Amino acid sequence: MIPGFLHKLYRILNEAVFPPKCLVCRSFFQPPGRDASIVPSPAGNHAPGWLLPLQSQLDGLLSLYLCSACIRGLVMVESPICVCCGLPFKSRQGVDHQCSGCIASPKKFRIARAPLVYEQILTKVIHCFKYKGKIQLAAPLAELLRTAYRRFWDQDSIDIIIPVPLHLKRLRKRGFNQAYLLVRNWNTAAGQNWSGLSDLQIERDVLVRTVFTAPQSALGRAERAVNVKNAFTLKDSAKIKDKRILLIDDVYTTGATVDECARILLKFGAEHVDVLTLARAV
Ligand SMILES: [Zn+2]
Ligand SMILES: [Zn+2]
Repeated sequence: MIPGFLHKLYRILNEAVFPPKCLVCRSFFQPPGRDASIVPSPAGNHAPGWLLPLQSQLDGLLSLYLCSACIRGLVMVESPICVCCGLPFKSRQGVDHQCSGCIASPKKFRIARAPLVYEQILTKVIHCFKYKGKIQLAAPLAELLRTAYRRFWDQDSIDIIIPVPLHLKRLRKRGFNQAYLLVRNWNTAAGQNWSGLSDLQIERDVLVRTVFTAPQSALGRAERAVNVKNAFTLKDSAKIKDKRILLIDDVYTTGATVDECARILLKFGAEHVDVLTLARAV
């Protein structure tokens, strides 16, 4: 009894003296839950994340890091979207269809999907994760991505998951590949409720970034495509031959990087390549 009581007292005092600060707006806030791995369901039972509305899932996963106002400010990708590249259309009416960009220059990948729009709040969250050492965000963001995978893809429709690789120089500087952290624990995450996930192969060394390129964020659309052209090579083509591949990255901006990865994978015999990112630039 006493250790439990003391622990609770410690927690209350600790939160009173050091309340968490929202990573985005820097305001102090009171976190509602204690465990970010548990996603509360509206019904009170612990339903698998992919069955919950995305907003409930965001509340459950991010409430230790973001204040409720910032969580509510995250924008979800909702139909109508481009059936190929996943771009949400400005008009909120009508059905999913192909966007003019995909008609004019068809993508090498088959489909790209993302759960969230890359707007101001999510930009800050991803910036904290990638550049400010907030590695603890990897777990909730990975869970968000994993349930997005469950929503957008049928069971047993993917053979191999490949996180978009960083050049060794950039990997050494950052210390981790954010795309790999977003899938690393998919197979072992508790309560996955989907047997197909444990069969997924995660291959982080099969595709290699051999050319050190300027950061895509500093470039325009046309420059981005040129910048990543021939930047990747395949280390072991036998591993991807006739396989259905899912590429993972943090942000889809123009799609130049994932499309170049898809081109190489298809060239070496992949059956098809799909793309899943956390965020989708509009
Ligand atoms: Zn906030
Ligand atoms: Zn499109």
